[in-house]
Formats: sequence, structure tokens, C-alpha cells
Amino acid sequence: MSDRLPGFSTLAVHAGAQPDPTTGARATPIYQTTSFVFNDADHAASLFGLQAFGNIYTRIGNPTNAVLEERVAALEGGTAALAVASGHAAQVVILQQLLQPGDEFIAARKLYGGSINQFTHAFKSFGWNVVWADPDDIASFERAVTPRTKAIFIESIANPAGSITDIEAVSTVARKAGVPLIVDNTLASPYLIRPIDHGADIVVHSLTKFLGGHGNSLGGIIVDAGTFDWSTGGKYPMLSEPRPEYHGIRLQETFGNFAFAIACRVLGLRDLGPALSPFNAFMILTGIETLPLRMQKHCDNAKAVAEFLAGHPAVASVSYAGLPSDKYNQLARKYAPKGAGAVFTFSLKGGYDAGVNLVSKLQLFSHLANVGDTRSLVIHPASTTHSQLDDAAKVKSGAGPDVVRLSIGIEDKEDLIADLEQALGA
Ligand SMILES: *Cc1c(COP(=O)(O)O)cnc(C)c1O
Repeated sequence: MSDRLPGFSTLAVHAGAQPDPTTGARATPIYQTTSFVFNDADHAASLFGLQAFGNIYTRIGNPTNAVLEERVAALEGGTAALAVASGHAAQVVILQQLLQPGDEFIAARKLYGGSINQFTHAFKSFGWNVVWADPDDIASFERAVTPRTKAIFIESIANPAGSITDIEAVSTVARKAGVPLIVDNTLASPYLIRPIDHGADIVVHSLTKFLGGHGNSLGGIIVDAGTFDWSTGGKYPMLSEPRPEYHGIRLQETFGNFAFAIACRVLGLRDLGPALSPFNAFMILTGIETLPLRMQKHCDNAKAVAEFLAGHPAVASVSYAGLPSDKYNQLARKYAPKGAGAVFTFSLKGGYDAGVNLVSKLQLFSHLANVGDTRSLVIHPASTTHSQLDDAAKVKSGAGPDVVRLSIGIEDKEDLIADLEQALGA
């Protein structure tokens, strides 16, 4: 082999994986075991004391999951990663390392509906207070910073309207405030956007969506960029203070530029427990092998469908950053030049009733609450994913009553357009 660095598609197939050393199996085996035999008592003690790396128990780590972690870390350009049971579990594990009760984090208002719920209700019950900011108004993040702010959370391509966030501008605010920037990169995937290249300190994914890509397995992952200094000012005691259960070591001091990923594993996953099944890790790894091919087709189809809708008389507006007329097109050209993703919204002249009617008439599109499947999906956010919000908040988060959200799959684009045409015309 030459000494050139492997490209993205090569990493998507190979990163983290080797033929199995004992059997020669070429695909990554599913290590369906809860626990692992120690060499001897000293080996066991050193694993428990974090003095050696190795497998103990699948709640803390598993060799199949480790391949997935290494692969996603490579694709995102991070130092290390931790796979967990779902995207939501990843968000809990991240914030548990950063916030103490009474602390705050700033979140963009345009988010996955489930994240809005999680931040507003569950996190509040932990004493973690979310402060909302407007991703289209960078100064609103600056205004939201207080001495209790511990993190900023945004989506790269934001739900539900596929709007593009100016990651570098938000990263500048985070740097100034001395807090890490967390980017949910689920809708972009590292094929379209690598947030770490633009100043993100932590990247989080719902692997359930484009990375797994086939609508069959839940998973989540946390990627450590290795960029943040956790030792300053005692702001992040989980990382900077001695850990009594690990012989008083300080995670930042011992693990350096992958201390955050270690904290998420040995404090977050160990104690909260949302481990990813090795079977799901295997399914998601298989999905990732074709990520570059799928993602390009998702984007090309989405652009064709958005263009069709923009020219249809029943459609009031289309919000797709890949259209030259879209307000996010400049940001899309900068951050996602290969394509603006495959999740976007459009609004119907007939309002709420027309939205509900359209969803019921579509045949090839599946009406369900998911995105990032090979299949094309449709949902009416105001009556489902965003129904818990009041009307003003629905409009602010891009889920007004007349809005329909699509997640475009990898079918033939002509068939998708024909299905929309019959449903809109009928
Ligand atoms: C689905 C999703 C999540 C939550 O992930 P789960 O795997 O369903 O827990 C978080 N963020 C975004 C953008 C999502 O699409």
C-alpha cells in the first residue's frame, strides 16, 4: 500500500475492521456475548482500574460496537466515539458529562421534535435547563450565554425544513463563551457535512437514520473531536476532578484528546446503561458501507422532487436548501456542496386539511415518523411529531399547520414525482 490517506468511501467500507483474528471471518462478526474472560487477576484489576484497554462487559464495550465506533470516528474526523442504544440516549449521555443540576445549555429552536420534548421535559426533571436560540440569528446565541451555560447544541441540517445552520458562526460564540459546541449531524451524515472541520467539539448522531440507512435498527453515537480543554476553571468536574471509583484519576489528564469519549463510556454508559446491541451495530455497519452511494442518490432525488413541487400550482412554498432560490442556498453551497440532504418541507395552499389529505393519498411514500430510510417517507408534523407545541412555537420551529415533511428515499425519482402528482391532483 502507498502512504496516501484513504478516501471517504474507502473508510466507509474498511475503517475499524479487520479479518477476524481467530476465524478469518471477513465481515465483522456479531460478538453476541455479555462478558469476556480475563487473562488473570492482574489483567482483571487493570481493566477495572482503566489502566488497560480491553473488554469487560457489553454494557461498557463490545468488539462489534468498537468497529462501529472506530468507523464513525474516522468518517467524522474525530479522535474517538461511543455507540449507544439510540440518538436520544446519546444526547442524555453527552449532557450528563457536562451539566450539574441547575446548569444551562443553549439549543437551536429548529430541532428534531423528539429533541425539543427531551430537552423541555425530561432534562428539566434532571435540573438541566434549556435556553432556546434562533439558528437564523447568531446573536441570539450570544445573548443566551450566562455563567451557568455549559454547552451549545445545534443541528447541522435542521429538522424539519432542512435548513442549514452556520456552524462556524455558532462555533465562534461557543469558543468565546468557553463551552463546547455539540452538533447533531443526523440529517447530513458525514458524507455531506463534517461538523468537526467547522469547529464542532462533539458530534452526535441518531444512527437510526441515514448512517444505518435502511429503517431497521435503532442506534446512536457520540464523536469526540478532541478539541476541547475540559480542565479550565473547574467548569466540567466529571472530566477534570479525581474519580474516586477509578483510583482518583482525572479523565482529562489521563486520556487527553479522547477524554470526553472515555467519560461518556466509563461514567455515562456504565451508570445510565443504554448499551447498543451488537446485532444492531452489525446492521448499522453494513449500512455505512454504502453511505456515500445512498446519500448521493437521496440528495439527487430530493432536488428533483423539490423542483417538481416548486412548480406545482397546489404548492404554496418549498423549503429545500438545494434550490437556488432558497434562503439557505448560500449556506448549503458552503457547508454541503454535494447536496442539501433529503429531508425538507413544503406547504400547501389548502392549509392543514390539504396536508392531512395529501398524506392519506400518497401510495409509494410511507406515512410514518422516521427519516433517512431507503424508502420515501411523509409526515404532517403539526398533527404528529410537533403536535405538542403551541401554534406559535410550531411556526417558529418550521412545522406550521400547512407544512408537510418529506424524507426522500433511493427509489426512481420519476416514480416519486408521479406519486406526488396523483396525490396533489386528486
Ligand atoms: C431521530 C433523531 C434523533 C433521535 O434519535 P433516536 O435514534 O430516534 O433516539 C435525534 N436527532 C435527530 C435529528 C433525529 O432525526
